[in-house]
Amino acid sequence: MASTAFEYDLFVIGAGSGGVRAARMSAHLGRKVGLAESRRVGGTCVMRGCVPKKLLVYGSHYGEEIADARALGWSVEPSAAKPDWKHLVDLKNRELDRLEGVYRRLLGDPGVELIEGNGVVIDEHTVEVDGRKITAEVILIATGGSPSLPDIPGIGYAMTSDDALELETLPSSMVIVGGGYIAVEFAGIFNAAGVDVTEVIRADTILRGFDNDVRQTLCEEMARKGVGFCSNAVVTRIERLDTANGCRYRLLLADGRTLETDRVMYATGRHPNTRGLGLEVAGVRTDPKGAIKVDAWSRTNVASICAIGDVTNRMALTPVAIAEAMALVDTLYLDRPTAMDYEYVPSAVFSQPPVGSVGLTEDRAREICGDIDVYVSRFRPMKLTLTPREERSLMKLIVDRTNDRVVGLHMVGADAPEIAQGFAVAMKAGATKAHFDATIGIHPTSAEEFVTMHERRPD
Ligand code: NDP
Repeated sequence: MASTAFEYDLFVIGAGSGGVRAARMSAHLGRKVGLAESRRVGGTCVMRGCVPKKLLVYGSHYGEEIADARALGWSVEPSAAKPDWKHLVDLKNRELDRLEGVYRRLLGDPGVELIEGNGVVIDEHTVEVDGRKITAEVILIATGGSPSLPDIPGIGYAMTSDDALELETLPSSMVIVGGGYIAVEFAGIFNAAGVDVTEVIRADTILRGFDNDVRQTLCEEMARKGVGFCSNAVVTRIERLDTANGCRYRLLLADGRTLETDRVMYATGRHPNTRGLGLEVAGVRTDPKGAIKVDAWSRTNVASICAIGDVTNRMALTPVAIAEAMALVDTLYLDRPTAMDYEYVPSAVFSQPPVGSVGLTEDRAREICGDIDVYVSRFRPMKLTLTPREERSLMKLIVDRTNDRVVGLHMVGADAPEIAQGFAVAMKAGATKAHFDATIGIHPTSAEEFVTMHERRPD
């Protein structure tokens, strides 16, 4: 029973990571909760993002491992090794089916009522799902985001990351437009699987917003593994070419260059899913990109409507959406107003090699802290010393000189995401360089490099 005059205490639109967490935690606290979802339960992360992507990362890179194995004396023939991509995609899809079942149970066990359909906000306390009007004391919008593609002629020929995750046959070549997280991750997956990948970026290099050493190192390492980069390139048109061997595509660039390829993928950012949600009618404010404007407690300008996750375009990361959900539940139902803390949120890019990052980039640290010390180490991972593989890792620490606090930690190399997660705890706790120096390394590891960095980079 809802404790109010409304059918539900809380009605959530969107069963992604944030919406599911808020719904089930509220239901565990005895609230009557409903949730509308028009696609699969699990949302972007579980169905169309982090999880399937990471499964394909795992499945894609064995070619390199097989070559390493041969270098270490195993009798295997790297040139004969190739993936059965459909098999991997089927396995991945089976795992997603299992996870959807888990998510449905997580909602069902505490009594969240799942309504499968499209939720539209009608007024400050009413949502309509496929013609049914539902009232709730609080409405939570957690509808996430979707791929955003520029409006150029021929854009309909391009796949998005949603399509790329379902690709059952690998093309010989692929152009990926974009230089963000998604573009570099998919470039890594398809390149490792044997596709001839070219990444087209409109800037000089990839991963704007990341530390410049990370950007440069990752770009070099990806290129070493065979990814081609076409930088300072703006695609103006995509044309379909019908050849005797099937169709190919030609991309025309603003400076007159052209590229031909078997498949085109666009990973040029994501937009918040607010179109058709009824926000204008309900009076909920959005920013020029369509993201819902919220305060530090995830409340919109309409008192009974809140929003969390990618639809608010604050920090588009699954664990952040989940933390925003937990903070909201504390605020709404535990009498503990909690604002989400965005400081020292670690993040990773599951590129090949991967990136792990916590805190400030060198440029941001200079702006914010003024005087900083920078420690950089580049090395060949021990695992590769017996192989011809030339891959090099980068580790970087940025220290605020005024208080010795480690304000930035960045790594490109094997296990970087796993390593950054551990150090994020220390940095959240305020670790100083002296704490890092006083920590004994685990030998031989890559991670120990972070506690044995003594040579400051000259100013
Ligand atoms: P990003 O915003 O990270 O990157 C978008 C890229 O597309 C940038 O390189 C941008 O260039 C480029 N771009 C934008 N518009 C155009 C255009 N019209 N023509 C050509 N290039 C263009 O978006 P993603 O889609 O990669 O990822 C979305 C978000 O999802 C990320 O920001 C991240 O928060 C989240 N995510 C997190 C992951 C993780 O944690 N591992 C994995 C995947 C996604 P420019 O830099 O010049 O603007």
